[in-house]
Amino acid sequence: MLLKDKVAVITGGAGINGLGYATARLMAEQGARVVVLDLAQADPAAAAARIGSQHLGLVADVTDKASCETAAAAILQQFGRIDILVNNAGITQPVKTLEITGADYDRILDVSLRGTLYMSQAVLPAMRAQQNGSIICISSVSAQRGGGILGGPHYSAAKAGVLGLARAMAREFGPEGIRVNSITPGLIGTDIIKGKLTEEKKAEIAETIPLARLGRADDIGGACVFLGSDLSQYCTGITLDVNGGMLIH
Ligand code: NAD
Repeated sequence: MLLKDKVAVITGGAGINGLGYATARLMAEQGARVVVLDLAQADPAAAAARIGSQHLGLVADVTDKASCETAAAAILQQFGRIDILVNNAGITQPVKTLEITGADYDRILDVSLRGTLYMSQAVLPAMRAQQNGSIICISSVSAQRGGGILGGPHYSAAKAGVLGLARAMAREFGPEGIRVNSITPGLIGTDIIKGKLTEEKKAEIAETIPLARLGRADDIGGACVFLGSDLSQYCTGITLDVNGGMLIH
Protein backbone atom coordinates (compact mmCIF):
# COMPACT_ATOMS: atom_id res chain seq x y z
CA MET A 1 0.00 0.00 0.00
CA LEU A 2 1.77 3.13 -1.24
CA LEU A 3 -0.63 5.64 0.33
CA LYS A 4 -1.71 3.92 3.53
CA ASP A 5 -3.58 6.31 5.86
CA LYS A 6 -2.89 9.34 3.68
CA VAL A 7 -5.73 11.79 3.01
CA ALA A 8 -5.87 12.75 -0.68
CA VAL A 9 -7.99 15.55 -2.12
CA ILE A 10 -8.77 15.57 -5.84
CA THR A 11 -10.43 18.56 -7.49
CA GLY A 12 -12.69 17.92 -10.47
CA GLY A 13 -12.71 14.27 -9.44
CA ALA A 14 -16.35 13.28 -9.92
CA GLY A 15 -16.54 12.48 -13.63
CA ILE A 16 -16.50 8.69 -13.88
CA ASN A 17 -14.47 8.78 -17.12
CA GLY A 18 -12.15 11.55 -15.97
CA LEU A 19 -8.54 11.70 -14.86
CA GLY A 20 -9.57 12.90 -11.42
CA TYR A 21 -11.90 10.00 -10.71
CA ALA A 22 -9.32 7.47 -11.94
CA THR A 23 -6.76 9.10 -9.67
CA ALA A 24 -9.13 8.99 -6.69
CA ARG A 25 -9.91 5.31 -7.34
CA LEU A 26 -6.24 4.31 -7.71
CA MET A 27 -5.25 6.30 -4.63
CA ALA A 28 -8.02 4.59 -2.63
CA GLU A 29 -6.73 1.20 -3.86
CA GLN A 30 -3.35 2.19 -2.40
CA GLY A 31 -4.86 2.81 1.03
CA ALA A 32 -5.68 6.53 0.91
CA ARG A 33 -8.88 8.10 2.17
CA VAL A 34 -9.93 10.22 -0.77
CA VAL A 35 -11.92 13.40 -0.95
CA VAL A 36 -13.54 14.13 -4.29
CA LEU A 37 -14.25 17.82 -4.89
CA ASP A 38 -16.35 18.95 -7.83
CA LEU A 39 -19.18 21.22 -8.91
CA ALA A 40 -22.68 20.37 -7.64
CA GLN A 41 -23.89 19.15 -11.03
CA ALA A 42 -21.08 16.55 -11.10
CA ASP A 43 -22.34 15.04 -7.80
CA PRO A 44 -19.05 14.49 -5.95
CA ALA A 45 -20.77 12.71 -3.04
CA ALA A 46 -22.05 9.97 -5.38
CA ALA A 47 -18.59 9.64 -6.96
CA ALA A 48 -16.91 9.23 -3.57
CA ALA A 49 -19.54 6.69 -2.46
CA ARG A 50 -18.86 4.66 -5.61
CA ILE A 51 -15.22 4.36 -4.52
CA GLY A 52 -16.19 3.30 -0.99
CA SER A 53 -18.08 4.39 2.11
CA GLN A 54 -14.97 5.66 3.93
CA HIS A 55 -14.38 8.34 1.29
CA LEU A 56 -15.83 11.83 1.09
CA GLY A 57 -17.35 13.88 -1.72
CA LEU A 58 -17.85 17.62 -1.35
CA VAL A 59 -19.17 20.34 -3.60
CA ALA A 60 -16.45 22.92 -4.24
CA ASP A 61 -15.88 25.43 -7.02
CA VAL A 62 -12.13 25.94 -7.34
CA THR A 63 -12.60 29.41 -8.84
CA ASP A 64 -14.17 30.57 -5.58
CA LYS A 65 -11.68 31.09 -2.75
CA ALA A 66 -14.30 30.82 0.01
CA SER A 67 -15.57 27.56 -1.47
CA CYS A 68 -12.01 26.11 -1.41
CA GLU A 69 -11.50 27.22 2.18
CA THR A 70 -14.85 25.77 3.28
CA ALA A 71 -13.97 22.44 1.66
CA ALA A 72 -10.53 22.34 3.30
CA ALA A 73 -12.07 23.08 6.71
CA ALA A 74 -14.66 20.31 6.26
CA ILE A 75 -11.92 17.81 5.26
CA LEU A 76 -9.80 18.71 8.27
CA GLN A 77 -12.82 18.37 10.54
CA GLN A 78 -13.61 14.92 9.16
CA PHE A 79 -10.13 13.45 8.61
CA GLY A 80 -7.80 15.70 10.67
CA ARG A 81 -5.12 16.07 7.98
CA ILE A 82 -4.49 16.64 4.26
CA ASP A 83 -1.49 14.81 2.78
CA ILE A 84 -2.09 15.07 -0.97
CA LEU A 85 -3.83 17.62 -3.18
CA VAL A 86 -4.37 16.91 -6.88
CA ASN A 87 -5.23 20.14 -8.71
CA ASN A 88 -7.07 18.43 -11.54
CA ALA A 89 -10.14 20.58 -12.29
CA GLY A 90 -9.88 22.12 -15.73
CA ILE A 91 -11.92 23.04 -18.76
CA THR A 92 -10.96 23.57 -22.37
CA GLN A 93 -12.28 25.28 -25.47
CA PRO A 94 -11.18 24.58 -29.05
CA VAL A 95 -10.90 28.09 -30.50
CA LYS A 96 -8.23 30.11 -32.29
CA THR A 97 -6.41 33.18 -30.96
CA LEU A 98 -8.55 35.78 -32.73
CA GLU A 99 -11.77 34.17 -31.49
CA ILE A 100 -10.94 34.27 -27.76
CA THR A 101 -13.19 36.69 -25.91
CA GLY A 102 -12.45 38.21 -22.52
CA ALA A 103 -15.08 35.97 -20.98
CA ASP A 104 -13.51 32.85 -22.57
CA TYR A 105 -10.11 33.88 -21.25
CA ASP A 106 -11.46 34.37 -17.73
CA ARG A 107 -13.35 31.07 -17.73
CA ILE A 108 -10.49 28.91 -19.00
CA LEU A 109 -7.76 30.52 -16.91
CA ASP A 110 -9.89 30.71 -13.79
CA VAL A 111 -10.54 26.98 -13.49
CA SER A 112 -7.00 25.73 -14.22
CA LEU A 113 -4.82 28.54 -12.90
CA ARG A 114 -6.79 30.50 -10.31
CA GLY A 115 -8.25 27.18 -9.13
CA THR A 116 -4.78 25.69 -8.63
CA LEU A 117 -3.76 28.74 -6.62
CA TYR A 118 -6.91 28.91 -4.46
CA MET A 119 -7.05 25.22 -3.66
CA SER A 120 -3.32 25.10 -2.89
CA GLN A 121 -3.74 28.13 -0.60
CA ALA A 122 -6.58 26.32 1.15
CA VAL A 123 -4.55 23.20 2.01
CA LEU A 124 -1.07 24.69 2.52
CA PRO A 125 -1.62 25.82 6.14
CA ALA A 126 -2.51 22.23 7.14
CA MET A 127 0.45 20.78 5.19
CA ARG A 128 2.71 23.38 6.77
CA ALA A 129 1.50 22.41 10.26
CA GLN A 130 2.20 18.75 9.37
CA GLN A 131 5.58 19.72 7.80
CA ASN A 132 4.60 17.31 5.04
CA GLY A 133 2.49 17.26 1.91
CA SER A 134 2.40 16.59 -1.81
CA ILE A 135 0.63 18.87 -4.27
CA ILE A 136 0.18 17.57 -7.81
CA CYS A 137 -0.85 19.99 -10.54
CA ILE A 138 -2.40 18.70 -13.75
CA SER A 139 -1.04 20.78 -16.62
CA SER A 140 -1.07 19.58 -20.24
CA VAL A 141 1.23 18.72 -23.14
CA SER A 142 -0.39 21.73 -24.79
CA ALA A 143 1.54 23.98 -22.38
CA GLN A 144 4.80 22.55 -23.75
CA ARG A 145 4.12 22.23 -27.46
CA GLY A 146 2.09 25.38 -28.02
CA GLY A 147 -1.30 23.83 -28.37
CA GLY A 148 -2.55 20.36 -27.91
CA ILE A 149 -5.10 18.95 -30.20
CA LEU A 150 -8.21 20.48 -28.72
CA GLY A 151 -7.39 23.38 -26.45
CA GLY A 152 -7.14 26.96 -27.66
CA PRO A 153 -4.17 29.26 -26.97
CA HIS A 154 -5.81 30.48 -23.73
CA TYR A 155 -5.88 26.83 -22.55
CA SER A 156 -2.16 26.46 -23.40
CA ALA A 157 -1.49 29.68 -21.49
CA ALA A 158 -3.48 28.51 -18.47
CA LYS A 159 -1.64 25.18 -18.38
CA ALA A 160 1.76 26.85 -18.88
CA GLY A 161 0.82 29.14 -16.00
CA VAL A 162 0.14 26.08 -13.87
CA LEU A 163 3.72 24.87 -14.50
CA GLY A 164 5.17 28.22 -13.38
CA LEU A 165 2.94 28.39 -10.32
CA ALA A 166 3.78 24.82 -9.31
CA ARG A 167 7.53 25.38 -9.67
CA ALA A 168 7.41 28.59 -7.64
CA MET A 169 5.37 26.91 -4.89
CA ALA A 170 7.84 23.99 -4.91
CA ARG A 171 10.72 26.41 -4.28
CA GLU A 172 8.80 28.28 -1.56
CA PHE A 173 7.48 25.31 0.39
CA GLY A 174 10.26 22.72 -0.09
CA PRO A 175 11.99 23.73 3.15
CA GLU A 176 8.75 22.93 4.99
CA GLY A 177 8.54 19.37 3.66
CA ILE A 178 5.89 20.16 1.06
CA ARG A 179 6.52 18.91 -2.49
CA VAL A 180 4.82 20.42 -5.53
CA ASN A 181 5.00 18.69 -8.91
CA SER A 182 3.19 18.82 -12.24
CA ILE A 183 1.97 16.24 -14.72
CA THR A 184 1.62 17.05 -18.41
CA PRO A 185 -0.83 14.53 -19.89
CA GLY A 186 -0.95 13.95 -23.62
CA LEU A 187 -4.25 13.11 -25.26
CA ILE A 188 -6.31 11.02 -22.85
CA GLY A 189 -9.69 9.51 -23.72
CA THR A 190 -11.97 11.29 -21.22
CA ASP A 191 -15.19 13.33 -21.47
CA ILE A 192 -13.15 16.47 -22.22
CA ILE A 193 -12.52 15.13 -25.76
CA LYS A 194 -15.93 13.45 -26.12
CA GLY A 195 -17.62 14.28 -29.42
CA LYS A 196 -14.69 16.49 -30.43
CA LEU A 197 -12.67 13.88 -32.34
CA THR A 198 -13.87 11.25 -34.81
CA GLU A 199 -12.61 7.67 -34.49
CA GLU A 200 -10.63 8.22 -37.71
CA LYS A 201 -8.96 11.31 -36.27
CA LYS A 202 -8.12 9.44 -33.05
CA ALA A 203 -6.53 6.62 -35.07
CA GLU A 204 -4.57 9.18 -37.09
CA ILE A 205 -3.26 10.78 -33.90
CA ALA A 206 -2.41 7.39 -32.37
CA GLU A 207 -0.17 6.67 -35.38
CA THR A 208 1.97 9.70 -34.44
CA ILE A 209 2.43 8.55 -30.82
CA PRO A 210 5.42 6.24 -30.14
CA LEU A 211 3.34 4.08 -27.76
CA ALA A 212 0.74 3.93 -30.55
CA ARG A 213 -2.40 4.72 -28.57
CA LEU A 214 -4.26 7.52 -26.83
CA GLY A 215 -3.78 7.70 -23.06
CA ARG A 216 -6.14 6.17 -20.52
CA ALA A 217 -7.30 7.92 -17.36
CA ASP A 218 -5.43 5.32 -15.28
CA ASP A 219 -2.16 6.30 -16.98
CA ILE A 220 -2.45 9.68 -15.26
CA GLY A 221 -3.81 8.16 -12.05
CA GLY A 222 -0.70 5.97 -11.78
CA ALA A 223 1.58 8.97 -12.14
CA CYS A 224 -0.42 10.77 -9.43
CA VAL A 225 -0.01 7.79 -7.09
CA PHE A 226 3.75 7.96 -7.64
CA LEU A 227 3.93 11.71 -6.97
CA GLY A 228 1.64 11.44 -3.95
CA SER A 229 3.63 8.59 -2.41
CA ASP A 230 6.97 8.50 -0.64
CA LEU A 231 8.46 6.80 -3.72
CA SER A 232 8.86 10.32 -5.10
CA GLN A 233 10.09 11.89 -1.86
CA TYR A 234 13.09 13.60 -3.51
CA CYS A 235 11.04 15.00 -6.42
CA THR A 236 9.81 18.55 -6.27
CA GLY A 237 9.29 21.15 -8.98
CA ILE A 238 9.34 18.44 -11.64
CA THR A 239 7.13 18.09 -14.69
CA LEU A 240 6.25 14.47 -15.37
CA ASP A 241 5.33 13.90 -19.03
CA VAL A 242 2.67 11.21 -19.40
CA ASN A 243 2.02 11.36 -23.11
CA GLY A 244 3.04 8.05 -24.70
CA GLY A 245 6.01 9.81 -26.28
CA MET A 246 3.83 12.34 -28.12
CA LEU A 247 6.32 15.01 -27.08
CA ILE A 248 9.89 13.91 -26.39
CA HIS A 249 12.08 16.84 -25.46
P1 NAD B 1 -13.21 16.09 -17.40
O1 NAD B 1 -14.03 17.12 -18.09
O2 NAD B 1 -13.70 14.69 -17.33
O3 NAD B 1 -12.88 16.56 -15.90
C1 NAD B 1 -12.84 17.89 -15.46
C2 NAD B 1 -13.56 17.97 -14.13
O4 NAD B 1 -13.39 19.28 -13.60
C3 NAD B 1 -15.06 17.72 -14.27
O5 NAD B 1 -15.47 16.74 -13.32
C4 NAD B 1 -15.67 19.09 -13.96
O6 NAD B 1 -16.94 19.03 -13.34
C5 NAD B 1 -14.61 19.66 -13.03
N1 NAD B 1 -14.68 21.12 -12.92
C6 NAD B 1 -14.86 22.02 -13.93
N2 NAD B 1 -14.90 23.26 -13.41
C7 NAD B 1 -14.73 23.14 -12.07
C8 NAD B 1 -14.67 24.08 -11.01
N3 NAD B 1 -14.80 25.40 -11.22
N4 NAD B 1 -14.48 23.60 -9.74
C9 NAD B 1 -14.36 22.27 -9.52
N5 NAD B 1 -14.40 21.35 -10.49
C10 NAD B 1 -14.58 21.78 -11.76
O7 NAD B 1 -11.80 16.13 -18.13
P2 NAD B 1 -10.43 15.36 -17.88
O8 NAD B 1 -9.91 15.02 -19.21
O9 NAD B 1 -10.56 14.30 -16.84
O10 NAD B 1 -9.53 16.57 -17.33
C11 NAD B 1 -8.93 16.61 -16.07
C12 NAD B 1 -7.74 17.56 -16.13
O11 NAD B 1 -6.77 17.05 -17.03
C13 NAD B 1 -8.09 18.96 -16.65
O12 NAD B 1 -7.35 19.92 -15.94
C14 NAD B 1 -7.63 18.91 -18.09
O13 NAD B 1 -7.35 20.18 -18.60
C15 NAD B 1 -6.40 18.06 -17.95
N6 NAD B 1 -5.93 17.42 -19.19
C16 NAD B 1 -6.72 16.54 -19.86
C17 NAD B 1 -6.24 15.96 -21.03
C18 NAD B 1 -7.05 14.97 -21.83
O14 NAD B 1 -6.64 14.66 -22.95
N7 NAD B 1 -8.16 14.46 -21.32
C19 NAD B 1 -4.96 16.28 -21.49
C20 NAD B 1 -4.18 17.18 -20.77
C21 NAD B 1 -4.67 17.74 -19.61
